[in-house]
Amino acid sequence: MGAFVGVKTSYLISRSFIRPVSPSAAVSCSSSVRWRPAQLRLFCSSSSPDEQKPRPSMLRHLTSKIKATGPITVAEYMREVLTNPVTGYYVKNSMLGADGDFITSPEISQMFGELVGIWIISEWMGAGRPKQLQLVELGPGKGSLAADVLRVFRQLSSVVGGASVSLHLVEVSPVLARLQADALTGSSGEEADGDEDPVYHRGRTRDGLPVSWYRRLDDVPAGFSVFVAQEFFDALPIHKFQRTDRGWREVMVDVDPEKEEQLRFVLAPSPTLASSTLIQAGERRNHVEVCAEGGAIIQQLARRITDGGGAALIADYGHDGTKTDTFRGFKGHQLHDVLSSPGSADLTADVDFSYLRKTAGGGVACLGPVSQRNFLKNMGIDARLQVLLRSCADPSVRQQLISSYDMLMNPKKMGERFHFFSLLQLSRLARPTAPNGLKLEKNKNPAPLPVAGFTELQYS
Ligand code: SAH
Repeated sequence: MGAFVGVKTSYLISRSFIRPVSPSAAVSCSSSVRWRPAQLRLFCSSSSPDEQKPRPSMLRHLTSKIKATGPITVAEYMREVLTNPVTGYYVKNSMLGADGDFITSPEISQMFGELVGIWIISEWMGAGRPKQLQLVELGPGKGSLAADVLRVFRQLSSVVGGASVSLHLVEVSPVLARLQADALTGSSGEEADGDEDPVYHRGRTRDGLPVSWYRRLDDVPAGFSVFVAQEFFDALPIHKFQRTDRGWREVMVDVDPEKEEQLRFVLAPSPTLASSTLIQAGERRNHVEVCAEGGAIIQQLARRITDGGGAALIADYGHDGTKTDTFRGFKGHQLHDVLSSPGSADLTADVDFSYLRKTAGGGVACLGPVSQRNFLKNMGIDARLQVLLRSCADPSVRQQLISSYDMLMNPKKMGERFHFFSLLQLSRLARPTAPNGLKLEKNKNPAPLPVAGFTELQYS
């Protein structure tokens, strides 16, 4: 049975990898190679033009708030800086790519999104091919991952054609939502009618699939869904705690009394609600970051998967409950002081996968984290690279493909830094039981079905 699913997934991969190569493709490269404007510039550019013009409005907003009500938690600081509806970093900027502040795996190579697409189809098949399939992406950036996933769906329409597929995007940034709409629906979209409608934009892909945009996961309709969150959880607000002689104290953000326009970290003088409730019993580290908002989203995903069926695939940098101080800023692909010119740089913290596993509870199965390198290898990235190289004659594009593969897979680049983690219905991994009254012979009892990406694919 294990081999059965492996074979099925490898069948999906070989099907989606085989493309007709037009005669012109032999010269110019086939359309199967999607160009990305930003290649391989992870942390490499010098200061951005923004460096010269800080955003006084965000700093002013924060300093007046702190002066009025006292120091704020790091979580509140992060939430304001990133998602304040007027001046938030994500709300105002398009930060992805060579001209932005950071670059992500789906922006580096189409192979990433294509293999995620195969994973989604394989989980849909593993769930017994339900008639409705909602693809839900949290924080879709420029829409590149969703576009690559949908291309795989188009190529495998003979496999998934029987299902009614819809795309649901959870995005707080109007700037990015516009880019996503351009990438996925062209000009076909329309704004929502009124404030009551949780869908703030809707459209259709060129294949006619409905696409809806929401601000919150809560608003996405119930039903069998596969959720994808790539570099989403690291952008959610974290609380920071420091162990002291008097017990755990929460790290807060205050105005520096000596420098009017500067912020500084301070320790709360007594326990806060967060320090009393979020530190795990038996915690051994001296400094801890807890993303309570991430935990709440995981609980919601777990509930939805238990009730409506489906799976979640989470890809991010992170650790398994071992790291301490990971809060940092990125601006123009360089590390940036988290308290300096707030709103002008990305703020991020490593995802604590052990915390996500704990908050998911026992109602779902958790797999991973496995390194991006292992996940993509298990998904067949080597075969995919060979197919793309075979369909491409242009030496510079071939070189791009090889470099982007190296960026995604090299342990010293993104290969070991990023991880994949998954939530699945418990039944997905359970050994099928014999129906009542029927006795199965021991050796006929099939093994649990392997989940693509988390186990090596078996080719027939
Ligand atoms: N997944 C994309 C983008 C990662 S950047 C990629 O890998 O390329 C983080 C994304 O999450 C952005 O689209 C940002 O606008 C969105 N985002 C950040 N905080 C959010 C929140 N609280 N709710 C919804 N979307 C959020």
